[in-house]
Amino acid sequence: MPAFVSRPTLLACAFADRATEGRRYPERPHPYRTEYQRDRDRIIHSKAFRRLENKTQVFGPEYSDHFRNRLTHTLEVTQIARTISQALGLNTDLVEALALSHDIGHPPFSHEGESALDAIMRSYGAGFDHNLHALTIVEDFEEKYASFRGLNLTFEVREGIVKHSRDYDGSEDLYLDIRHYRMGQRPPLEAQLIDLADEVAYNSADLDDGFDSGLLKLPQVLEGSRLFRRLYSQATKRFPRSSVKLRFREAIRSLIDHLATSLIEETRRRLDENSITSIETVRNHPCRLVGFDALCDEMNREIKSFLRRNLYDHPRLKAARNQARRLIEKLFDYYSQDPCRLPARHFSRLSENGPHWAICNYIAGMTDKYALYVFERTCSE
Ligand code: MG
Repeated sequence: MPAFVSRPTLLACAFADRATEGRRYPERPHPYRTEYQRDRDRIIHSKAFRRLENKTQVFGPEYSDHFRNRLTHTLEVTQIARTISQALGLNTDLVEALALSHDIGHPPFSHEGESALDAIMRSYGAGFDHNLHALTIVEDFEEKYASFRGLNLTFEVREGIVKHSRDYDGSEDLYLDIRHYRMGQRPPLEAQLIDLADEVAYNSADLDDGFDSGLLKLPQVLEGSRLFRRLYSQATKRFPRSSVKLRFREAIRSLIDHLATSLIEETRRRLDENSITSIETVRNHPCRLVGFDALCDEMNREIKSFLRRNLYDHPRLKAARNQARRLIEKLFDYYSQDPCRLPARHFSRLSENGPHWAICNYIAGMTDKYALYVFERTCSE
């Protein structure tokens, strides 16, 4: 008989549906979907979500069709986050909406695209951050509803988008006004979870794709990560006759399991230790409560720095990144010389915040594929 996993009941400090601060434009409740299920569905049906398919995670499509792109990465983050959420007894509908939206603000060409746009926008006294851009997308750029702009998501999903990678105390000099998102407070546990589920997903996936691409070699990975070395040696003992590739994959599976288990157990321990029994105690706690235990945190950091040195900074990926940066700079320059070149929808917004914002938002919304297409038609001569 298979053993069935029972779902824990919702924790007292989980974010209950009835506690929502609601939507900017009030809407009638749906007869059979919760508010966070509706948010999840709105994100899946958005243009920004569909564009994730043609945005680079680490490897561009020139490498292989089965390496992660930003859409498949997002689905992996969502799966990991959902598992951890259910094990902890959190609000999984809210977790799912947050995980699915966590990367929708990414411009083309991954972090290089973001850093290029940020540098350009800083020269105009502004800046560019993909989490703040995601907020602009769900608040303004998505056009699906006749009665309002954006997706009209609940406060908690918008707050989670803003605080995806960091908290704010309200003193920051930001280009977007986010003061009403409870500055100085921690976001709900459901939102705290996403950044770490993101790390579990990309650390394991980047080792996997890095090895598959041939840019990372087995001895290098075994040398660079003590945790991976232990998991690989366990896989070798268990499957002595299987190929290196399969043992590597077994070790990757165990790695995801190991990191997710640490998140679940350490978070439970912190909630107990700090007597966290309500959403208010979560919000007012001096630091985030979802986290790895100390040893796992060290092992996870080791993998991150290994990947930075050996994969992200690999000469082949670096060359592609430099090319992407130049492409973004040239595109920005092309539209700055004559903003009339912008498509009508973006040109009509020139007067709102100035041409640099209209150009930045147009480029940020492009997929890698579309950015290359526009570049070839406009400024490749
Ligand atoms: Mg991500």
